Amino acid sequence: MFCTNVRVDRSKTVSSTIPSHRKGKRRRDDQEQAGQVEVFYPVNCVVCSAHLGVQDAEEVFHLYHVVASNA
Ligand SMILES: [Zn+2]
Repeated sequence: MFCTNVRVDRSKTVSSTIPSHRKGKRRRDDQEQAGQVEVFYPVNCVVCSAHLGVQDAEEVFHLYHVVASNA
């Protein structure tokens, strides 16, 4: 997905816990690893400054509150 008109604010960070997709009987160490906290940067629209989502440390966008538009 290519993103335009967005600005990544790297002066701020958002912490989010990665959800574990590995359910079941696991050793305690594995469960703690799956629940580690990852840092994200907030992503805002340059036009209306709306908060659109976050970008992770690998520069992958995670957008929400976004509606597809042809405008
Ligand atoms: Zn906007």
